[in-house]
Amino acid sequence: MKKKDCVFCNFKDKEVLLYEDSLCYAVISKNPINKHHVLVIPKEHYQDFVELPDELASHIFLVAKKLSKAVRKACNPDAITHVFDDVTSKSGYNLVAHYKFHIIPRFKKDMHLIDWSPMRTNESSEARSKYAKDIKKKL
Ligand SMILES: [Zn+2]
Repeated sequence: MKKKDCVFCNFKDKEVLLYEDSLCYAVISKNPINKHHVLVIPKEHYQDFVELPDELASHIFLVAKKLSKAVRKACNPDAITHVFDDVTSKSGYNLVAHYKFHIIPRFKKDMHLIDWSPMRTNESSEARSKYAKDIKKKL
């Protein structure tokens, strides 16, 4: 289903379109982290990763893999960051509340650092075991 007021459900700028099939399309981000920053977007409206039907989630990952190979060739990045958000609070965390898979080429000197500072280093096995059990109970 598409939402009338969603820009990704009603995307029309074919100039930035770089891929399209029956389930999804890909465009260059309007708010890019770097040049060649690609968004892979389902044609139907889903807000979160966990809402995606399994077949569509698999398809988007395969399309992202294919496009990542092309991004590598297009701009020769030092790395590519693949990210997406699940907005569990439904609080407007994203500019557009429509799931998208980001393919972001990264360069050693681009200064777009993701702060991967751990909340703790060398977390104990006991604590990690508790976190694992918390999640396993919900599977
Ligand atoms: Zn939408």
